[in-house]
Amino acid sequence: MTYLKFYQKENDAFKTEYNIHLEDKQAIKIAKKISRHFKFTVNEIKIYGKKSHGYAWFRLNKIKIPHNTSLSLLIHELAHLYEYQKHNNERHNKQLMKTIQKFIKYCRKKNYWLLEG
Ligand SMILES: [Zn+2]
Repeated sequence: MTYLKFYQKENDAFKTEYNIHLEDKQAIKIAKKISRHFKFTVNEIKIYGKKSHGYAWFRLNKIKIPHNTSLSLLIHELAHLYEYQKHNNERHNKQLMKTIQKFIKYCRKKNYWLLEG
């Protein structure tokens, strides 16, 4: 699956999270909660730009997200780090989608986007 197709599928499946935008502080808070709960390492979160895409540096445990990121984009990049650390998976595949689903379910349960920044 190309990554564009993947994003399309993802954004269709998680419309709610795609439309939830986070304050930068809030995004970092949520990232910490997710990484603590699912036990993987996030060394650094860079926030810059206003584009609707992010980036993950697998070997550095580092991600990039734009200001005011959508919740689904934050989760996408975090899922990349998780997949690399747990399954050595660097791809946009079913396994990544499974992890994204898991993270979304967790965030829905906790209503994390309602947290104050
Ligand atoms: Zn990706």
